[in-house]
Formats: sequence, C-alpha cells, structure tokens
Amino acid sequence: MTDADTFAKLQAEMRACTLCLDAGYWVQPPAVTQGSHRARMMTIGQAPGITEVEAGRPFNAGSGKRLFEWLGRAGIDEDWFRSTQYMTSVTKCYPGRQPSGSGDRVPSRAEQKLCQTFLDRELALVQPEVIIPIGRLAIALFFNNKLKLTEIIGTQMQIENNAWVIPLPHSSGASRWHQLQENRALIDKAVDLIAGHYHRLFG
Ligand code: SF4
Repeated sequence: MTDADTFAKLQAEMRACTLCLDAGYWVQPPAVTQGSHRARMMTIGQAPGITEVEAGRPFNAGSGKRLFEWLGRAGIDEDWFRSTQYMTSVTKCYPGRQPSGSGDRVPSRAEQKLCQTFLDRELALVQPEVIIPIGRLAIALFFNNKLKLTEIIGTQMQIENNAWVIPLPHSSGASRWHQLQENRALIDKAVDLIAGHYHRLFG
C-alpha cells in the first residue's frame, strides 16, 4: 500500500469514526481535516467548530482568517497551505457548545484519548518537519501544561524526530489572549520563527 493509499484509508476511517458517540459523548461527526500526506508543515488545532464542519475544512471563518493573517505575515499563502500542507486537530469532530452557551465545548480528556490514536497515525504518516499547535489543548501535547502562554508563544522546541514545534494561541474571536496588546509581540516572534522554517523548507 502506498503512503497515499494509507493516508486515504486513514481519512476515511476518521470520517466514519463514531467512537465518541458510542462512548456517550455528544459530538457531531464527521472528522474535519485538510491537506496532503506529503506536507512538511502541520497545524494542530483544538477541535473543529460548526462552520468548519459545514465548510468541511479546518480553520474556516474568523479563526481561519486570523490564523492565515498570521501565516501570511510569514510569507505563507492560504490556498497553497491548505492544499499542500496538513491541518488537523486534537479531536476531529465538532464538540458542540459549552453548557453556558458561550463558545464551543473543550473536548474532555476521555475524548482526547479516544482520538489520540488518529493524531498519532497522522503524525507518523505525514512526519511533518514543522508542527504548529494552535491553542492550549494542542500546545499541551508538547509543552508543560503548567507554563503560561506568555512563556510559550514566541518560542520553539525541537522534538525527538527533529521536528520543530512552534506554538500559536487560539485564533478564534472568543479567545482574548491574542487580542491583548502586550501579547502581540509574542505572536510576532512566533510568526518570525514560522517564516524562518518556511523559507528553510521551501526556499
Ligand atoms: S472526535 Fe475523534 S475519536 Fe471522537 S468520534 Fe470524532 S474522530 Fe472519532
């Protein structure tokens, strides 16, 4: 089986997955991911929102507009990135609204665990050289959860397989962190780091 076949099989498995529903969690499949198994850069978000499910692509609407404004400043074109790189999330299905109604529900640890096998397989198959975790949940996959975002954003870390991890804050309008004036310089630093790797990888 070629890598392309293995990738297509994984995508089909994710889209058909009902593990969370079977375990009694409210989620709205199908899984939302986008991109190529030949990607050298990978973004990992928290979970898709309803507009992502409707559009069938991650980081649609406002969160995507802001994310691609940041990546655009690193020289990255949105259409190019979406078609040649890879975009996924910690959990792949829409988790619904918070009980309070303000913003989307954060997937539980149990749901994250159920979906972890897919993320492990995506990372093993794509083997990205640059990983961009976006938001607390994805950042916690790589960085100590006790660190504040102000200690993490604007830094990079190399992991075992030599991939570079460059975190970004959650880019949704509901998140206030990226809107604070004092945090903008940290986002600029992260954008510069991403730009450096983008030019190293793609010239
Ligand atoms: S979030 Fe992940 S584990 Fe849960 S149903 Fe969707 S694809 Fe399956």
